[in-house]
Amino acid sequence: MTLRDVDRETDAETPYECFECGTIVVTTESPGVCPDCGGELRNRLIPLE
Ligand SMILES: [Zn+2]
Repeated sequence: MTLRDVDRETDAETPYECFECGTIVVTTESPGVCPDCGGELRNRLIPLE
């Protein structure tokens, strides 16, 4: 594999917000859980209704 410049069309950064402490995690991958408190993260690009 060769590391190239970020392809923003396929590796768009997505912000996730922690339900518990409000920490914002920006990643191109699935973030799993909050790095600060281990709480559940939600995708901020998907509005809560
Ligand atoms: Zn948290």
